[in-house]
Amino acid sequence: MEADRIYNFNPGPAVLPLEVLKEAQGEFLNFNHSGMSILEISHRAKQFDEVLEKAKADVKELMGLGDDYEVLFIQGGASLQFDMIPMNFATKEHKGSYVLSGSFASKAYKEAEILGVGEVAASSKDVDFRHIPTQDELKINPEAAYVHLCYNNTIYGTEYHYIPETNGVPLFADMSSDMLSRPLDFSKFSFIYAGVQKNLGPAGTVLVVAKKSLLEKSPETLPTMLRYDTFYKKNSLYNTPPAFCIYMVGKVAAWIKAQGGLSVMAERNAKKAALLYEAIDSSEGFYKGHADKDSRSFMNVTFRLPSEELEKEFVAEAGKVGLGGVKGHRSVGGMRASIYNAMPYEGVAKLAEFMESFRKAHK
Ligand code: PMP
Repeated sequence: MEADRIYNFNPGPAVLPLEVLKEAQGEFLNFNHSGMSILEISHRAKQFDEVLEKAKADVKELMGLGDDYEVLFIQGGASLQFDMIPMNFATKEHKGSYVLSGSFASKAYKEAEILGVGEVAASSKDVDFRHIPTQDELKINPEAAYVHLCYNNTIYGTEYHYIPETNGVPLFADMSSDMLSRPLDFSKFSFIYAGVQKNLGPAGTVLVVAKKSLLEKSPETLPTMLRYDTFYKKNSLYNTPPAFCIYMVGKVAAWIKAQGGLSVMAERNAKKAALLYEAIDSSEGFYKGHADKDSRSFMNVTFRLPSEELEKEFVAEAGKVGLGGVKGHRSVGGMRASIYNAMPYEGVAKLAEFMESFRKAHK
């Protein structure tokens, strides 16, 4: 840990691997002997082409996906995907079927609803999104164009621990806050997307990994920039791409590979999450987790304290000892510790110790 850096528990933009930041800093003024920084290079230059192709290849390799999948980089945040997905794939006859497991899952559904092409497969809103709907709760219309999930709910701190069976209906997932955090059988998904500003890089691009067969042709009525086939046919270079973001995603993917890949990420993330959940569970009710135990997220740990005054004090005291960004989202209240791939174990251990000493001082 650098002396002047804090442990950053913000939900996104979020902590990035220190090695990656240093590497980017080292080549900032003269990228790959070009005499320019990556911010100044043409997106048509050979040096950028290499960056793009390597990033795409590393992401696919980490996910264990083959030639039938394509990687795209699109701007507009994950929120624009909430629009593009129903526009490209759903119709009034074959709607998009949405599992409502939190705020972003609901926002995605809202966009499909505006277009008149959304339906609900399941919802855990009645229990304040404390749990992920189970397979038995999913009502999947066999005529649906796709089933849309939010795999990790950043605000509520819940995460899927199974891949839903959709009986042939293509499975779509927003993995903004747990992309590349653990190995999964990604071939069960037809379409995955993630705003990269949590686990993968700086804000400014969305990583889309989808079956090529879905990307080849978009409805004729859609304008150019809202069509997946535009991005697919032009290799994400129809217009000027966010070159720096793609470069950083490539560096993070290479870093994950060098660390040992997704199974190593999963092992580390599980150990970190266990420290915080243990601090909650052993607190004799002082800390109350928001998520039901079977739906707990490895990425965003949410909990409340006995009063809002104590919560304010917790945030302030944590900040004083270099633990930043622990305030929860206003819709849940309390605390949220985001412990993405790049958050070191030492940072989480320090937070767990802080939780214990804060509890002893205030119980
Ligand atoms: N989905 C999830 C799971 C998120 O956490 C977020 C952002 N916090 C979004 C979507 C929206 O992403 P963006 O801000 O890139 O539009």
